[in-house]
Amino acid sequence: MLDKRKFYIDGAWVSPAKANDLAVIDPSTEEEVAVISLGDQADTDAAVSAAKSAFVSWSQSSVGERKDLIAEILSTYEKRAEDMAQAISLEMGAPIDMARTQQVGAGTWHIGGFQRALENFEFQKPLGDHAPGEMNLYEPIGVCALITPWNWPMNQIILKCIPALATGCTMVLKPSEIAPLSGMVFSEIMHEAGVPAGVYNMINGDGPGVGTQLSGHKDVDMVSFTGSTRAGTLISKNAADTIKRVSLELGGKGANLIFPSAKENAATQGAQRVFNNSGQSCNAPTRMLVHSSRYDQAIEDVVAAADATQVKSAHEEGRHIGPVVSEVQFNKIQNLIEKGIQEGARLVAGGPGRPEGVNRGYYVRPTVFADVNNEMTIAREEIFGPVFCVQSFETEEEAIAIANDTDYGLTNYIQCQDADQKRRVARQLRSGMVEINRVGFGQGSAFGGYKQSGNGREGGAFGLHEFLEVKSVSNWDD
Ligand code: NAD
Repeated sequence: MLDKRKFYIDGAWVSPAKANDLAVIDPSTEEEVAVISLGDQADTDAAVSAAKSAFVSWSQSSVGERKDLIAEILSTYEKRAEDMAQAISLEMGAPIDMARTQQVGAGTWHIGGFQRALENFEFQKPLGDHAPGEMNLYEPIGVCALITPWNWPMNQIILKCIPALATGCTMVLKPSEIAPLSGMVFSEIMHEAGVPAGVYNMINGDGPGVGTQLSGHKDVDMVSFTGSTRAGTLISKNAADTIKRVSLELGGKGANLIFPSAKENAATQGAQRVFNNSGQSCNAPTRMLVHSSRYDQAIEDVVAAADATQVKSAHEEGRHIGPVVSEVQFNKIQNLIEKGIQEGARLVAGGPGRPEGVNRGYYVRPTVFADVNNEMTIAREEIFGPVFCVQSFETEEEAIAIANDTDYGLTNYIQCQDADQKRRVARQLRSGMVEINRVGFGQGSAFGGYKQSGNGREGGAFGLHEFLEVKSVSNWDD
């Protein structure tokens, strides 16, 4: 069993103030594979204090210095790619090939996006000709607490740590306690790349412990959080007393609108998109809304896609999906599948229990419900497993109304070859992102949600702005 009890504080690996062990479970086997420590107030205070001291000099570093350091982090990240893929696969069950490509690759992609944004980013801008000499300075907000989930660990960690570093902030990262191993490899990368002591710190801990200590800490200027809407609410409330900035990236319940002119394989690809990462993506298109003229064929296609999706150990190579992350998630998904059946949705693929012949590991059957309506629990709650709903619609207005009838607003999807219709619908969808016809977003595009999907925007220049304050200075030019 791996001993991963230490924290990374002020440039060194240190033991926790008090012993408080937590086992890391491999979801493919249900075996304990590592032990970490859950930190307490003394650890949180030490990490915040290191970040506060380091802010004095790092906030004054030049943009050139920060760019050089980010280039060094990228090359170290690439060197350690295999270690990172193994850690992610072990801790959260991403199949090893998928971990190597998509999970690790997401980190590389986002670092590139920040590098691109930094090339043209103006940290200093005149207000305008009407106010001669007045300058706006974009300055680092201060000490940042970065709290991340387990589902796309490097995607989330890099979307926070790199812009914090790039803008001159210092930070304390608290990765998910369920999937902490990748965060520890990342800390080794930051050390090896030469990040100055105290600029980047990492402690493990849970929400009620280190998470709450960070969001309420008087010396933390900003919390950037990705995770559940439930925790986002608690963090916002706890941060209110110290008026810190809170940037939230929360859950989703994306609709995938399939119009009559959609490409033939739209439903198949929509299903594959949900099943990727075993359905554990906040932006998964988990509500497929299909025009009635395409409905019966779409059901046939998604059933075939579900049946063709193999579920196997994360340690096997290949293009299957792995288990879900934990027993808690497994049970939550099973309960929601049961609820879908009880509430009268038509189960057309998968269903309760593990796939045939499997009795260990948190494996869920790729599951599809048809004839769902928006009153059903499975249409409203984020399931976070390889499970989705199919609903039918008659008119464009009805499709938009169903899509928008949710507390969430992260990503919606449109499948439509009619240029006017796709643009008209995109404008009316209440979400931070609308992906049309499977054309992916460019490097540095804004990732974030409307409504209860959060209030932050991550990636590229949008992500840099999150970590900056604006200072107005008069008479700058004389
Ligand atoms: P979670 O909210 O339980 O935990 C996320 C992180 O927050 C963990 O590090 C956890 O320790 C910490 N935490 C929990 N309670 C806290 C509290 N009260 N105070 C401070 N920290 C606390 O979520 P999870 O189960 O790890 O992740 C899954 C959720 O994340 C899903 O809802 C998913 O949609 C969401 N997610 C959102 C995005 C996005 O960008 N919008 C991306 C990925 C995941």
